[in-house]
Amino acid sequence: MAKPAIVSVDDDPQVLSAIERDLRGHYSGEYRVLKAASGREALDTARQLKQRGAAVALFLVDQRMPDMTGTQFLTEVRDLHPEARKVLLTAYADTDAAIESINRIGLDHYLMKPWDPPDQKLYPVLDDLLAEWKARAHLPYDGVRIAGARFSPQSHAVREFLSRNQVPYQWIDVDEDASMRGLVSSFPDGLARLPVVLFPDGTYLTAPSNLELARKAGLQTQAMKPFYDVVVVGGGPAGLAHAVYAATEGLRVVLVEQSAPGGQAGTSSRIENYLGFPNGITGADLAQRATAQARRFGAEILTAQEVVEIRRNDPYRIVRMADGKEISAFAVVLTTGLAVRTLEVPGIEPLLGQGVYYGASLSEAVTYRDQDVCIIGGANSAGQGALFFSRTARSVTMVVRAAGLSPAMAHYLVQRIETTGNIRVVPRAEVASVCGKGRLEQIVLRDLDTGVQRTLDTSAMFIYIGTAPRSDVVAGLLDRNDKGYIVTGPDLARVNGKPRGWTLEREPLMFETNVPGIFAAGDVRAGANRRVASAVGEGSAAIFSVQKYLDTV
Ligand SMILES: Cc1cc2nc3c(=O)[nH]c(=O)nc-3n(C[C@H](O)[C@H](O)[C@H](O)COP(=O)(O)OP(=O)(O)OC[C@H]3O[C@@H](n4cnc5c(N)ncnc54)[C@H](O)[C@@H]3O)c2cc1C
Repeated sequence: MAKPAIVSVDDDPQVLSAIERDLRGHYSGEYRVLKAASGREALDTARQLKQRGAAVALFLVDQRMPDMTGTQFLTEVRDLHPEARKVLLTAYADTDAAIESINRIGLDHYLMKPWDPPDQKLYPVLDDLLAEWKARAHLPYDGVRIAGARFSPQSHAVREFLSRNQVPYQWIDVDEDASMRGLVSSFPDGLARLPVVLFPDGTYLTAPSNLELARKAGLQTQAMKPFYDVVVVGGGPAGLAHAVYAATEGLRVVLVEQSAPGGQAGTSSRIENYLGFPNGITGADLAQRATAQARRFGAEILTAQEVVEIRRNDPYRIVRMADGKEISAFAVVLTTGLAVRTLEVPGIEPLLGQGVYYGASLSEAVTYRDQDVCIIGGANSAGQGALFFSRTARSVTMVVRAAGLSPAMAHYLVQRIETTGNIRVVPRAEVASVCGKGRLEQIVLRDLDTGVQRTLDTSAMFIYIGTAPRSDVVAGLLDRNDKGYIVTGPDLARVNGKPRGWTLEREPLMFETNVPGIFAAGDVRAGANRRVASAVGEGSAAIFSVQKYLDTV
């Protein structure tokens, strides 16, 4: 944490040097002593400090300055640093102005010039004020800060991205923090482009993309080597497992993830059926451990990079990312998993991120503390979400199309939901529409048996209504089944005894697609058992096929 600042302001260079000398002599051990030659310059300094998340303990300001009086300066700077102590340096003639400022702007003290000897006339006063400041000050957070609006989809996306990439941050709602609102208003885009992400080096980004954020937060977004043995596309459990095994086998491996490592599992509030964790493990924890493990063995993991094209240029496989950069390798392993299905009902579009969320938005648990929330869906992920929010929300209503939670949901989750007092289940119902001004206020439910509609007041709706494979990136290149899952190995359809386009003598290996050297594992693969352990198993096992393939190139 940087030292808090004492800022002195005077337009007379001799006086300013004398104040600076005296302040440094006594306070430089604990405080940074800064000076400014005018009110405008001092306002810039104050803004810079706020932008960096640095605290100001005290302003010591001359009353008589040509561009802006000391009182005017202290009035303006109050919004940026409300907790800083305010002291005016006055001549005898300014005493009235100083006394008036005590009431008007909460001036803490005024000192007559000259202040010699400082041991008697300066330090005792400032020591008292600084001790008082220290006792009451809330020291600013010196990491990444996100200043945004609570119900803004962009603010939600930025928080989610940083959380899922394990980048610690402080969230500041500009509607509740006047000093941050003041700072953001002074930026060129003002409040028009939120959120603003402030970094400890004093720089900031407005409404950044994931890639911009990742770069600035120090996450790896570019491959380091000119060539790899294997590129893994997708950083869920299957991809991470493959990266760990490839790296431990000594292969040059890079994993490319469009958002954050962890995949669907990374969004799970608690995975209870994964071997070796009798008390369960959060998806975030599992993702963080797997990422650390893969990196420890030398795998590179790129985040915020979407793969938009994969092509074959024998014997190489080339992967192109959304920023136009390409990675070449001998083999590609696709572990792109599933994407959530969207709910198409009237009114939903403008409320996305403003009370309506897809999947588990765990970072929103605090936002909806003590409020009524709804979970749409009745499978395991919906059950986990309901239990998670039941810990902080006042009530959780689960809306399910079936007559009850079983058999779609695992027995242990059903039992827990039944014994959790603030969760209720509305069976045989679906969402007909949603409404709210600026944020979700109500959802309209339709009874599937009677068609009768009723309105439910709710602050948030978390949707878990199923998934579809993320395989469009290989459409036309690889064989997919009618639902879009990638077909591999013995399941590949044959034409004249061979998979489509297959020219080799040998049969496709386990997990190999109809293009040699391109493999698929985990949820995106046709026939996969869609569970964390299965994805990890497939990602790990695919290494044997990749190695066999590498022996042939
Ligand atoms: C909320 C929730 C809770 C769950 N709970 C459990 C549980 O308790 N137990 C259990 O066994 N299973 C659970 N599951 C299922 C489990 O999470 C999945 O089976 C598992 O994550 C599949 O892993 P995967 O690596 O195949 O794919 P995914 O986890 O889907 O990961 C795929 C990754 O690929 C990335 N990606 C996709 N396309 C691209 C591209 N073009 N470029 C770059 N990256 C790309 C995605 O961003 C994603 O990170 C849960 C699922 C959800 C959604």
